[in-house]
Parts: sequence; C-alpha cells; structure tokens
Amino acid sequence: MHELSIAQNIIDAVQTALPEHGLTRVERIGVRIGTLSSVDPEALTFGYQALIAETSLAGSVLAIEMIETRARCRRCREEFVATDFVFVCPKCESSQCDLVSGQELEIVYLEGE
Ligand SMILES: [Zn+2]
Repeated sequence: MHELSIAQNIIDAVQTALPEHGLTRVERIGVRIGTLSSVDPEALTFGYQALIAETSLAGSVLAIEMIETRARCRRCREEFVATDFVFVCPKCESSQCDLVSGQELEIVYLEGE
C-alpha cells in the first residue's frame, strides 16, 4: 500500500519542519496531491492516522487538496483538464501535449502552535 509510505514521508517531513517553523505542536497539515500520483486520499488519511498514534503528531489532521491533471497542447497552446489519463487536445486533437499539473505531492502549510 503506497499510501502508507507516503504518509510516513509526510510525517518525517513535518517532524523535521516543526522546529524550523517554531512550532511544538501541529494541528493541521495542508498537502496537495496531483490526481496523476494515483494516491487515494482516504487511504492516505487512514494510514496517516494509524502512523501518528504514538508520535508527537497525534491528534493532527491532514487537509488534502487534490490537484486535477492539466495538460497544454504543443501545437495550439490550449490548456485542458486531462481525464482518464488521456492527453489529447480537445481543440485540435493533437496528442503532443505537456503535463502542466497532476504530479504534485507536497506539503503546503502547517498549522499549530
Ligand atoms: Zn491543440
């Protein structure tokens, strides 16, 4: 289950970042996850809650923001939402497209005291 290793990575990153932010306790962790990273937000939340139970992060919650997969056409520069991993320009039907977003997996903020 790769959500568990992602949850562990988030925990490690938060524990490293806490002193840097002058925080001793964190309540809310904002994360952005691209739909292309195929992370199930429910599984991630579940894994996170299980892993923090005995740590200094116990009681904190993940605020997960899913980022849609967007691509831009190389031929006509149209930017569009790619659904079902299909990268075909809706305007000119070219498949020469560059990924704009969808691979994010990052911590965007920490809330605590
Ligand atoms: Zn196009």
